Amino acid sequence: MFKRVLIANRGEIALRILRACHELGMEAVCVYSKADADAPYLKLADRAICIGEAPSKDSYLNISRIISAAEIADVDAIHPGYGFLSERADFSEVCRDCKIEFIGPSPEAMGKLGDKVEAKRYAKAAKVPVFPGSEGAIEEEQEAVEVAAEIGYPVIIKAAAGGGGRGMRVCRNEATLRTNIAKAQQEALAAFGNGAVFVEKFLEDARHVEVQVLGDKHGHAVHLWERDCSMQRRHQKVVEEAPGPLIERKKIQGVCEAAAKLVKSAEYAGAATVEFLMDKDQNFYMLEVNTRVQVEHPVTELITGVDIVKQSILIAAGEPLPFKQKDIKVNGHAIECRINAEDPDRDFMPSAGKIETWELPGGPGVRIDSHVVPGYYVPPNYDSMIGKLIVHAETREAALTRASRALSEFNVGPIKTTIPLHKRLMRNAAFARGGVDIHFLERLLKG
Ligand code: ADP
Repeated sequence: MFKRVLIANRGEIALRILRACHELGMEAVCVYSKADADAPYLKLADRAICIGEAPSKDSYLNISRIISAAEIADVDAIHPGYGFLSERADFSEVCRDCKIEFIGPSPEAMGKLGDKVEAKRYAKAAKVPVFPGSEGAIEEEQEAVEVAAEIGYPVIIKAAAGGGGRGMRVCRNEATLRTNIAKAQQEALAAFGNGAVFVEKFLEDARHVEVQVLGDKHGHAVHLWERDCSMQRRHQKVVEEAPGPLIERKKIQGVCEAAAKLVKSAEYAGAATVEFLMDKDQNFYMLEVNTRVQVEHPVTELITGVDIVKQSILIAAGEPLPFKQKDIKVNGHAIECRINAEDPDRDFMPSAGKIETWELPGGPGVRIDSHVVPGYYVPPNYDSMIGKLIVHAETREAALTRASRALSEFNVGPIKTTIPLHKRLMRNAAFARGGVDIHFLERLLKG
């Protein structure tokens, strides 16, 4: 078992991992940039090491500085959290070379599932439903045109190494496809260091449904059912929930089982999320596999009772999964609201600065994952998420009521946050009916 773990991240997820380490009896070493020198969770760490200046490339994305900190602190393992270095196969490899356990998949397994083209190949073999489209990367413009003619327009060009909603182009006819292929390849090369692109069917109206899976080093993989993350703005999730409302259970069960099979077939150890778009007839099409713990993992924890972060640490330490698929039972409904330091009234302009008022909700079924305390200064250098409110109740209706109640107790100032938006969403009639699509929020904000 690990004695000491380094957390190569910041903010709420750093604190989430620190808490898991302490509950497992492990020491937690935090790294921080100069912008985070006063972060309150550093006081809870067994050791905190400054790794550089505020810009991520000089600190949280700097592999040699993180490895140096790991060696100085003599840690057994590194947890990368989400974002930053979490999906970098080269980082996983450097850890292995330095004999430090990377809490996440091996570079090989990450290569198989983290690359969208490769993942699609494995998915087909595991009978995970994928979008109709090109088999592998597109080399020539003509190839793309032929694929599109076969599957029909609209199509979307995507980068094999893409992420963060970047490098995608929707093409509604052959002329646009022809003019966009070479551009997309150049753009992908510049942005991701890998120019491979592929073409798939573009789905106009869909819901985002994803499956949480845990794989261990002994060839087991168990899914923890699905989450619906359709409430999005600019491809960024705003609200997530589990289970997905109005989804036929038999259908989703098949998809979840296939997702677990996919993870197993890649000999993948750790937490993975298989993301899908679901059309009106509840057909599923795989988008990609995220090879790390996700922001929205708590909703799954609340409905299954499985601590995903602790499990990811135990898996890396070589422990077999302590449960089988049949042991995973869904209990009630959970909803997460991402609290961002942004002003919803000013086009979500980032609202960095000092938080004077920070009054948290409480009571039954309310969980707050946040590193913020009163007096905390939100640095302008990083992601604007400052915490998550997650509620759990017996039914979806009760969870919505509970979320509204909790939000009414949640006071933050003087910085602006997305709390007022969440209050509005939790009372929205269409959201309450369930099954809103991924463009719902943008339509609501426009209207
Ligand atoms: P990234 O890794 O950049 O997040 P994804 O493949 O997960 O890329 O896609 C991000 C978003 O782009 C999806 O949530 C969806 O809104 C849209 N998208 C991607 N592929 C398609 C598609 N084939 N049809 C419709 N929308 C798509």
